[in-house]
Amino acid sequence: MQNRNERILIVEDDPQIRNFICYLLKQEGFSYITVGTAQGALSILVSEQIDIMLLDLGLPDFDGMEVIKKVREWSEIPIIVVSARDQDKEKALALDSGADDYLTKPFSATELMARIRVVIRHLYKVGGTKQLTSLAVGGLRIDLDKRLVYLDNVELHVTPMEYNLLALFFRNIGKVLTTRYIIKEIYGVGYGTDTQALRTLMAGLRRKIEKDPAKPRYILTEIGVGYRLSDE
Ligand code: CA
Repeated sequence: MQNRNERILIVEDDPQIRNFICYLLKQEGFSYITVGTAQGALSILVSEQIDIMLLDLGLPDFDGMEVIKKVREWSEIPIIVVSARDQDKEKALALDSGADDYLTKPFSATELMARIRVVIRHLYKVGGTKQLTSLAVGGLRIDLDKRLVYLDNVELHVTPMEYNLLALFFRNIGKVLTTRYIIKEIYGVGYGTDTQALRTLMAGLRRKIEKDPAKPRYILTEIGVGYRLSDE
């Protein structure tokens, strides 16, 4: 077991799930604090040094969704929602409110750890002294300075919009981006929720970067929620 620097806040009112998560984090060498209420979570966040929050939504005092909104008024701390609510609408709402990821109960130890690893990688990328200008996932590479895209070291010809879309994913590797968020970032506010333009743009980009656009390896569809650039 290695000791890790990150300290995790577990917000969960179900003792069984809480114990399960504690057990997993302990195995991985994380330090953690647990709390069973939304109000408790907020007081810990203002008084303690916390690096990541695992947040249940169904809490006894008020909804976890409110915790996300409140925390986002003053903090960029990574929030992974761990909830039994499995509706796409709920997932999209949590992500749009500022959660970084969403895990549906029941979940496996492997899944939880994978999500935590993703947010930790982002922590160091954001906090690091120099921002990487060249990022790669598998054979797909982007040069953010020169605005160039390579697949297996061959330069791809992408349109400016396709480039912007891909760059958005590379700035958020492994993270689910909701359709609404992508539209806002790519087309700007006021474009509403017209998803057809995005679908067309995505199809064009996939034809260029995916061997089999019907079975994407890079940009994965999160049905009913949005898309995610695979981090493997
Ligand atoms: Ca609960």
